[in-house]
Amino acid sequence: MIHSVLITFLLFTSFYSYSEVSTPDRHHDSPISSSNQEANTTPNANWNALYLSTLNHSPERALNMLQTRYTSSTAYGDKLYLASLLYQYMSHRDQPFYGVASNDSDYQVIETTFISALMKDGKGQYEEAQQGFLTLLAKMQSRSDLTGKALLKYQLCRSLNEQAKYHQANYYCSALQSDLRDIADPVLPKFGTYRVIANNHHFRSDYQAALSTYLALINVFPQGHDISGIYNDVGNLLKELKQYDKSAQYLKEALELRADASDLMKAQVHHSLADLYLSQGQSDLAITHFKKSKVLLSTSSHNYGIALTNLGLGKAYTQTNDYDLARDYLVESLSDSSELNNDVIRINAYLAISDMFEERKLTKEALNYAQQALELAEQVTRHKYIAQALLQLSEIHQVLNDYQQAFYFYQRYSTIQMEARDIDNRLAFEALDLTHAKYEQELENSFLVHQAKLDQLHIEKIEHQKWVYNIIVILLLCGASFMVFTNKAIRAKAAIDAMTKAYGRTEIIRRIKRVKRCKGADKQHVLVLLDLDKFKRINDEHGHPTGDRALVHISQQIRKHLMTDELFGRLGGEEFLIMLTDTKPSEVRERVEELHYAISSTVFLSESKKPLNVTASFAYLATSDALSDFDDLYSVLDQALYQAKSNGRNCIIDAYNDPIDLPDVIYSRPVCEPTQP
Ligand code: GH3
Ligand code: MG
Ligand code: MG
Repeated sequence: MIHSVLITFLLFTSFYSYSEVSTPDRHHDSPISSSNQEANTTPNANWNALYLSTLNHSPERALNMLQTRYTSSTAYGDKLYLASLLYQYMSHRDQPFYGVASNDSDYQVIETTFISALMKDGKGQYEEAQQGFLTLLAKMQSRSDLTGKALLKYQLCRSLNEQAKYHQANYYCSALQSDLRDIADPVLPKFGTYRVIANNHHFRSDYQAALSTYLALINVFPQGHDISGIYNDVGNLLKELKQYDKSAQYLKEALELRADASDLMKAQVHHSLADLYLSQGQSDLAITHFKKSKVLLSTSSHNYGIALTNLGLGKAYTQTNDYDLARDYLVESLSDSSELNNDVIRINAYLAISDMFEERKLTKEALNYAQQALELAEQVTRHKYIAQALLQLSEIHQVLNDYQQAFYFYQRYSTIQMEARDIDNRLAFEALDLTHAKYEQELENSFLVHQAKLDQLHIEKIEHQKWVYNIIVILLLCGASFMVFTNKAIRAKAAIDAMTKAYGRTEIIRRIKRVKRCKGADKQHVLVLLDLDKFKRINDEHGHPTGDRALVHISQQIRKHLMTDELFGRLGGEEFLIMLTDTKPSEVRERVEELHYAISSTVFLSESKKPLNVTASFAYLATSDALSDFDDLYSVLDQALYQAKSNGRNCIIDAYNDPIDLPDVIYSRPVCEPTQP
């Protein structure tokens, strides 16, 4: 299988460099018919187009144009834009330019800062340059100067693109794009601003957006100027979008436009065309264009281009099954990569060689080269190529019917792809936040407010894109809730008495205190306190383990007679608490007796398998009220239980209704009701 490798000549063209390209004096309509040419005919667009063509024919006159317009401009943003053209004009001629002396001291400061930022940017002192641009952007915000703001956003987008900080650049590019939408006749030429915006889309792999911006750019491009670079870019993009016919149209148009251009510029388009034919499997055409490109590149000793062309030829000959030729070119590209010390080309050469061996069914060799590609890619941490190598390894193992290994590599491949996506998102949002923070700081430094609100809206719009992160946050929250849930489960576990499986003291009291008032008027909660009778004796006579058995036994018996939401807890030792819910007053006594009987009527086995019986004393109370004042209720129950014990044990006391005379008249009235005949 042939990997499509996206390494092309990306000529980074800054906006002003157009002014220095001499072009054939004709205009080509875009191969995709454009209906929107009216944007070209506004006064500012006309001036910019005229300036460009004058610059080509007569630079002296162009300078005159600039100076005249500069002197007559009063708006700061307009003047600043013209100052940037003056700076550009001078630096192309290696002449220093520090700005124009002015009576307006406020403006003077602004222009000086701007020119100095441009100079720093040109020298690669990006941090300082960015600081300057940001300070000025804030100033322009406070003055509500639309052109000034657009100019600074343009500079920031362009500079950040150049530093490969594409996501930070995107912040300013998209702001610039939406600003431009609202301006009918912007002072800044659209062909310049659209170019940096399209570049940014392209570098961020947002091909659809890049394409539509390039097409918009073609519509506003001034007549008579070299548009071939844009046609080349559009052609490459269309290829990536698999629109091969349109791609070919643009690339052929670009080639025609560059008929009189330099060898390097022609080679670039031939290479683009060859790549296109390679992805379409039209190997012969691909070979023709790669060869043309190589000849042109050789005259200008463009070694990087030559290495890429050898790689392309190797792949093309693999397609035509001319394996010897393929091998020669690929080996050549390998040695080129060593000379250039270029790991990316080397990795791609390994992958292409592996592909070639795979085609020849020399699977062992294919495996070997894919492995080398993987190792090198890992060594230089190029995730994109690590992924490609893993995919290749997975495919080869499939051919070998080693599905386990194939699956292993495929899994690693998909993990890397996912991670790369995450890294990309994370970096994007980090960049966004960083940019946002810096920008905010600058805003604070000046005393603007109203324009900030509009920008705030824009920032919020961008933050909508954080949905990916929101999903991650939701997942984390789910994870956290799961932890809370698990902790709860652990806590609940701790709240249960291990031996009897009844709630522990704290838990049963906590739960009872939460019980609300009964819903129906004829329903009652019943609280039952029970204590085993003469339990010490069981321990003494049969041993402690038998005592334990008794506790387990009576717990089982009680549970058998409880409804789902009724509560059962061990207060300590052999004292238990039960809560019955929603019981009819007429049934209360019956239910308590049922529990009492469940204990006294059943036997359990001692350690020595001897059947034994245990009884318990019961105290209970019934109420429709909430049980939040449990402590008071408990003391009532406790007294009643004492009464039950005093009355001879193995009996039931109704704490609210049976007489409790403690301690003087303990035996005055027998209240114990034998439950067993
Ligand atoms: P009364 O009817 O008056 O309550 O007599 P009693 O023997 O039950 O008296 P008391 O409540 O004072 O004694 C309870 C005994 O229960 C004391 C203790 O040794 C025993 N006991 C407490 N917890 C456990 C336990 O987990 N396992 C066993 N086997 N015995 C326990
Ligand atoms: Mg007891
Ligand atoms: Mg006791």
